[in-house]
Amino acid sequence: MVVLKSPQEIEKIRKSNEIVSEILQILESEIQPKVNTLYLNDLSEKLAREKNAIPAFKGYRDFPYSLCASVNNVVVHGFPNKVPLQEGDIVSLDFGILFDGYYGDAAKTVAVGKILESTRRLTQVTEESLYKGIEKAVPDGRLSDISHAIQSYAEAEGFSVVRQFVGHGIGGKLHEDPQIPNFGKPGMGIRLKSGMTLAIEPMVNEKGHDVEVLEDGWTAVTKDGCLSAHFEHTIAITDEGPVILSNLYRS
Ligand code: MG
Repeated sequence: MVVLKSPQEIEKIRKSNEIVSEILQILESEIQPKVNTLYLNDLSEKLAREKNAIPAFKGYRDFPYSLCASVNNVVVHGFPNKVPLQEGDIVSLDFGILFDGYYGDAAKTVAVGKILESTRRLTQVTEESLYKGIEKAVPDGRLSDISHAIQSYAEAEGFSVVRQFVGHGIGGKLHEDPQIPNFGKPGMGIRLKSGMTLAIEPMVNEKGHDVEVLEDGWTAVTKDGCLSAHFEHTIAITDEGPVILSNLYRS
């Protein structure tokens, strides 16, 4: 069941996503060679608590950390650890909080120092594919218009989109209906309506789209070992079109 939100609820979801965006910006500013992702995890948790927000991922289905930190071939749900980041790495930071009854959720892939041009293109195309999807989040559109816009853009640039993980509705729960695949034919699925709040999150791989989950039950990696990038915004569909609620940053 898709829950439509009132303008007052959307403002609360905006506030939660502003907190997420501010924290992601601070984490990004900390990223450089030798920093480790466990430090970023601890910092994210501290910053959230300072704002009286509750980290949303820690304990969600027993996920053990506040931050998902996915380096290079890790697609999503990477465990923060003490391995130092190296020049040329990319790290996808996915962070969510609960504040005043509503969730915020956003993600961004960040470069560690100088990265290869081919890697920079992967992150750029992934971010652009997110905006292509958001453009289709309009009243009377169909859900898969978002999916198709993401897939067609990423594939036209020579990359592939992950199938196993999807975007989602968000609001009073972290994951609400509908699920939002990043692939598919246009014109399918539910009709989009003003008042929907959605977390749209393309995961784009440099080569093949297959992923596998490691023995820890969470860490999703590309099957072929290639790089993967991930960008996510929480948006609201309004009569005037899509409004990005986690919009403090854009690279
Ligand atoms: Mg999400």
